[in-house]
Amino acid sequence: LEKRETYAKTEKNGRIGGDESRIHVFVRLRPMAKKEKEAGSRCCVKIVNKKDVYLTEFANENDYLRLKRLKGRHFSFDASFPDSTTQHEVYTTTTAELVEEVLQGRNGSVFCYGATGAGKTYTMLGTLENPGVMVLAIKDLFTSIRQRSFDGNHVVQLSYLEVYNETVRDLLSPGRPLVLREDKQGIVAAGITQYRAYSTDEVMALLQRGNQNRTTEPTRANETSSRSHAILQVVVEYRVKDASMNIFNRVGKLSLIDLAGSERALATDQRTLRSLEGANINRSLLALSSCINALVEGKKHIPYRNSKLTQLLKDSLGGACNTVMIANISPSNLSFGETQNTLHWAYRAKEIRTKTSDTNEEVIEISETGTDQAKLLLELQKEN
Ligand code: ADP
Ligand code: MG
Repeated sequence: LEKRETYAKTEKNGRIGGDESRIHVFVRLRPMAKKEKEAGSRCCVKIVNKKDVYLTEFANENDYLRLKRLKGRHFSFDASFPDSTTQHEVYTTTTAELVEEVLQGRNGSVFCYGATGAGKTYTMLGTLENPGVMVLAIKDLFTSIRQRSFDGNHVVQLSYLEVYNETVRDLLSPGRPLVLREDKQGIVAAGITQYRAYSTDEVMALLQRGNQNRTTEPTRANETSSRSHAILQVVVEYRVKDASMNIFNRVGKLSLIDLAGSERALATDQRTLRSLEGANINRSLLALSSCINALVEGKKHIPYRNSKLTQLLKDSLGGACNTVMIANISPSNLSFGETQNTLHWAYRAKEIRTKTSDTNEEVIEISETGTDQAKLLLELQKEN
């Protein structure tokens, strides 16, 4: 608690000490489902002050001071959303700021984490009536671009991919698996469709179509697999002229990630971890938990290379990026174990420190009146 209070004091816009920031972690509780009610479940999650999450094991457990002292029964996050929270509120609190940053040429990523059925896809994609973070972010992006009197040119490009069984697939034009390779911008899926987007209207339809292309479990034909990770990448490229008429090229990348179901895969003790690894349950999620552990423990070597997902998330977890994690949970006591596990990992993710994102900006042309500094930059670029 003491540590948290220190952060609250030194933190400015989520930054600590200027060049370091941490992953911002949020929790979203979904409403009780009909099925859960019918199974006679009761609510075992209590959110207090939009921040603290308490897990109650018994029906009349209301002594929060006592719960606070029990291990694994009380957690505190940047914000915790009760089941009445709207999609818009979730978007505004978690992601709106990142959209602004992307326009400034910084990278950002948001990932949803939690057991199958906890509300990840609802939060990320949503429905036609209640669009989620992915759609609201793109809508906001277009509004921002339109509202400002920019003197430059914006290009917004979308790509949507899936990681399933260590295979990367293009959700916008399904076909052969894609190969990951490293370039200037980090790890990219070679040959992925870059969809030029001009308005929000087309985006929801596009993403829904993409989601239908997600791998389905052979036994449950209509349900998308709980083992598929979906990643939407939005790249915003902007050419801007400064006061001295120098032209800069600015690129920002926003990654929005709907992770596979965390059930079983993120066991907390090493023995279960290993046996699951043998069974090859979800290599990518296991690798994610190893990376989180290594980052929290301040290890030199972070095992990003162990899976496709962690390769793709490398610059979101340890690199220069503004990162947000939304942990989704069910209110039902029948999911007590899963919920506790999700909260445990989300809480741990709070300890990760990332470098603050640099602006991806370069001088590409200098006017006659260009400053000496800009000229120097251009010289340096030529030399490289
Ligand atoms: P996940 O992607 O984590 O497996 P879903 O997002 O598919 O879970 O959610 C499971 C079900 O619960 C869906 O029918 C979804 O519409 C519903 N649901 C999830 N979160 C909410 C919410 N906040 N409000 C209303 N319904 C929700
Ligand atoms: Mg889902």
